[in-house]
Amino acid sequence: MTGADLDLVSGAVQRDAVAAARATKEGPGSYWQRVLGAAFPNSPATHPGRARRDVAAELAAFLDRPAASEMVGFACVLCARPADRVVGKDRFPLVASILYRNTTAPGAPGWPLCWPCLLAGWAMPYGATYVRGQLVVFDSSDQGLLGYLTGRAVEENRRYVSVDQVAAPVRLERPTTVAFRALREYRETPQSGVRMLVFRNDNRGAQLRSHRIAQRRCVFLVGLDARDKAAGLGLRAVCRAFDVHGRDGTMRRLGENVAATSLLEQPEHRFLSDARRALLGIVSSGQPRPQEQSTDAPGTIPALARRYAKEVLNVSTVDTGRIEQVSERVAALIGNGEVRGPLHEFTEASRSPRKLNSWFRRRAVDRLITDPQAGPLLEPADYELLFQEGADGFVARDLLFFAVIARLHERGWGRSLDETTRAELAAELANATPDDTDDEEEPRT
Ligand SMILES: [Zn+2]
Repeated sequence: MTGADLDLVSGAVQRDAVAAARATKEGPGSYWQRVLGAAFPNSPATHPGRARRDVAAELAAFLDRPAASEMVGFACVLCARPADRVVGKDRFPLVASILYRNTTAPGAPGWPLCWPCLLAGWAMPYGATYVRGQLVVFDSSDQGLLGYLTGRAVEENRRYVSVDQVAAPVRLERPTTVAFRALREYRETPQSGVRMLVFRNDNRGAQLRSHRIAQRRCVFLVGLDARDKAAGLGLRAVCRAFDVHGRDGTMRRLGENVAATSLLEQPEHRFLSDARRALLGIVSSGQPRPQEQSTDAPGTIPALARRYAKEVLNVSTVDTGRIEQVSERVAALIGNGEVRGPLHEFTEASRSPRKLNSWFRRRAVDRLITDPQAGPLLEPADYELLFQEGADGFVARDLLFFAVIARLHERGWGRSLDETTRAELAAELANATPDDTDDEEEPRT
């Protein structure tokens, strides 16, 4: 970057800010007025009294290349070069949480900043995504990924920042959904994780939230459809399962928000529980849904869970293999003919270690009576795997549930059911939601 580049940046920033200052509530430029308001709420361009001010002159005095430093002898707080301006919160985005702001010494009007750092702060909104009054920006030590994430925001902002454009549509996604969508469309392998900063610097109360998305979660989302078609379809099915009907009966596509938060923000093992809830929800849903979705979900959501366990939770192939073998035996027990009772029992039991343990004990006895030659239902190592304490135990039991459903699906479960049986099964599965087991405790991580 040269000084001439910075002059260009300064010119563009001022041009857009002056246009935004003149914008009517919903007219052209109003989108940029809202974005700037989230970053610089009391600046000349966003102040409630802006109509009576000479915004262009005030911004030029502030953002043009300074002829001489106002702050001789001070270093820029961000880069340590000689400072040019002293800048308060009203003219620079929040760089710390509300607990740490306004920490300049008594009598000091703000931070000393050099001109390039000041301009970088004013260029920042172009690389941010504006979601419901907040700005979302990303940081990453993978420069390619960082360029991609920021570039997406710049491209989108450019469509609305211009005075010729009307206001941008209201966005319903959560900040995490911005990352979720971007990562799903990325084509390279992320070399690091991503830090997501969500902030609002406005007069209702400044906020800053910082969330780190681990590299393995990023890698999992990138190219999922290409790597594993079934898992990609499973993720879509999970998103749709959490969509809700609005008051007017129309479908509100908010399920992606739930899936994105679960995948990228919650403790890692939690996504399997949510995928499980989605699967049960789809099977038991009374809402009309596309046929392919309800019949495929029992195959694709388990595929998604399997891949997630491998790539994000690092479940070993030994453990996965063990769970697959147990699931074969369980699926054989539940069978395909008598789907109702046994499956419901297993589904309900599989969320609670105590109930699952007694389910296995009961079934082992039954099995011994009907087939004395059969080997044990659970080997000691299976037992240790499924009933270990903490998050690993939850993961193993969730994976067993998915593996059993996948086995049954392979055997034609769900496709051969008539409408009455399907409705009865749906009612049973709906009762077997994971949250109604008495001794379930989510492990703390
Ligand atoms: Zn600086």
